[in-house]
Amino acid sequence: MSLLSVENVSVSYGKVEAVRGVSLSVEAGRVATVIGPNGAGKTTLLTAVMGLLPYKGRILYDGMDLSKLDVEARVERGLCLVPEKRELFSEMSVSDNLILGAYSRRDRNNVARDLDAVYDRFPRLRERRSQLAGTLSGGERQMLALGRALMTKPRLLMLDEPSLGLAPLIVREIFHVIGSLRDLGVSLLLVEQNARAALETADFGYVLETGELASAGPSKDLIHDPRLIATYLGEH
Ligand code: ATP
Repeated sequence: MSLLSVENVSVSYGKVEAVRGVSLSVEAGRVATVIGPNGAGKTTLLTAVMGLLPYKGRILYDGMDLSKLDVEARVERGLCLVPEKRELFSEMSVSDNLILGAYSRRDRNNVARDLDAVYDRFPRLRERRSQLAGTLSGGERQMLALGRALMTKPRLLMLDEPSLGLAPLIVREIFHVIGSLRDLGVSLLLVEQNARAALETADFGYVLETGELASAGPSKDLIHDPRLIATYLGEH
């Protein structure tokens, strides 16, 4: 069953319609990805799902119409967005950034245990737990952003360009971690320009071009689609 269902959604900035009539879904426990070039509307779509932009159409999350919930209520129900800029608190330590991720949770008693689980997943963050977030490398910052998102106990984790600005080796590491989040039962909506890595990680893919869906299908089919290879994937 779909955890998230986006139905015929359009989002405008004034007169400019950045997303036009897009429908997509994320199945429970699966990874879906939206790929597409710069300016295709990927970030806009995630921002609307998070409740930070008005939209036309319908968005259902766990069967609920999201238009009835404000951002806080969405967060409480397990929606979480890691924006492209990561938005960490650079003057605070790694551990404080992680603990702040649990800020809106009711089950405060489990925070210490979950912090430990995040450190198990990202040993590099444990080593650097006292270091200021602003002094981390790009890859470590992305790990911290993912770790902080996990501290919210997400059911649907939306990641905006997690590989942006990272070296190829680090990108592989980040995608490996993202794929492993399935074990936690977290569902993922992954927005990426790095189409190949995204499709290799995801179960299902959508291609967004100038605000509209150009194709959709299981990732293993899209990755062999000659048009996508020519446009986004390149020869491997
Ligand atoms: P990128 O990968 O470059 O972030 P994207 O696919 O995420 O691209 P969006 O950032 O969603 O694309 O942008 C979609 C379109 O909406 C673009 O044409 C962009 O210029 C426009 N846009 C985005 N934010 C705003 C805004 N705040 N006001 C006006 N237009 C905007």
